[in-house]
Amino acid sequence: MSGIHLFVPNFRTKECLEEIRICLDKGWTGLGFKTLEMEKAWSEYTGLPHAHFLNSATAGLHLAVRLLKDADGWKDGDEVITSPLTFVSTNHAILYENLKPVFADVDEYLCLSPESVESRLSDRTRAVMFVGMGGNTGSLDRIAQLCRDKNIRLILDAAHMAGTRFEGKHVGAESDAAVFSFQAVKNLPSADSGMICFADQALDRAVRKWTWLGINKDTYTRTHDQSAYKWQYEVEHPGFKYHGNSIMAAMALVGLRYLDQDNARRREICQWYDEALSQHSGIERIPTAPNCESSRHLYQIAVDKRDEVMLAMNEKGVYPGVHYRTNCEYLVYRDYRVECPQATRYSDSLISLPLHLGLSKKDVSHVAKSLMNIVTLQRGLPA
Ligand SMILES: *Cc1c(COP(=O)(O)O)cnc(C)c1O
Repeated sequence: MSGIHLFVPNFRTKECLEEIRICLDKGWTGLGFKTLEMEKAWSEYTGLPHAHFLNSATAGLHLAVRLLKDADGWKDGDEVITSPLTFVSTNHAILYENLKPVFADVDEYLCLSPESVESRLSDRTRAVMFVGMGGNTGSLDRIAQLCRDKNIRLILDAAHMAGTRFEGKHVGAESDAAVFSFQAVKNLPSADSGMICFADQALDRAVRKWTWLGINKDTYTRTHDQSAYKWQYEVEHPGFKYHGNSIMAAMALVGLRYLDQDNARRREICQWYDEALSQHSGIERIPTAPNCESSRHLYQIAVDKRDEVMLAMNEKGVYPGVHYRTNCEYLVYRDYRVECPQATRYSDSLISLPLHLGLSKKDVSHVAKSLMNIVTLQRGLPA
């Protein structure tokens, strides 16, 4: 694979294989064992009291919406304020539960703008879905305060935020549910898995049944007081098959050992980009919020004529990405389109530059120089 690519996950192959071998030798690759170990390790790492390991963050976002809807008695058509500038998982989770996504605009951090969220509040608003773009906390603290003041729920799509700290504390505690992703190219990659962290212990207990078809082993033994019948269980509701497995947990446990070190390296690479690009007036760099130690899943910039710039970068052997197109443009969200001028502008101008642990300072310099030359040419200014 020649060229400089957006994401290249860095697996510690030997350590991953050792952890996976333990599962195979034990004959236990499914739910339990390493999934419980990963939950405990994640709780200790983040300081969040509850953590349940899942097969994806998409499943986690669905569960967050579903369980809060049940707990609070939301009705179909009730509203969740959300960002249009995100991966579609975020907003699909709202549609899955027959709720209405109400798009609010983003701010200079590419995260929900508190002012815009406030302007979208109605008497049917039940929750805000906040996306920590690229690991950035944006104005999460202000939005968390707003949710407390208005007595509405806060769900954190923390798919990019493994290892993000705000004022020295890992993110998640400000939210009713925080959902992390350990998908194949996230900053803590497994192959596919995720974590849901509910603030409320009762919801954490409930979600463990929801992720395994609604099966409850405890209820049966309790109500029948016959723990000898180990093969019996109760099924209370049509739950989903959303739990994670021990092979994925084994990989995630290895990644977690290196998470702080890897994120520090990501921040260093971003610093190199910042230094290289800071003098160019045609390139808008996205700031990290004050007091945020970002996981730096992404390094994003905004330019005019984005698509032309992307193609020209490809010609130089550089393969950046786009996170994201505004979801308002997708057919599936056509009924929910509203004016979000910043999200629309960024949708047409954002580029995610290559960011992974295999990049050297020379690579970063090559990417930055190519980008600056291309942008200068596109603007028709003297090089
Ligand atoms: C990747 C991603 C998800 C979904 O994560 P999966 O683990 O792949 O389901 C959700 N939200 C955002 C912002 C993401 O980038």
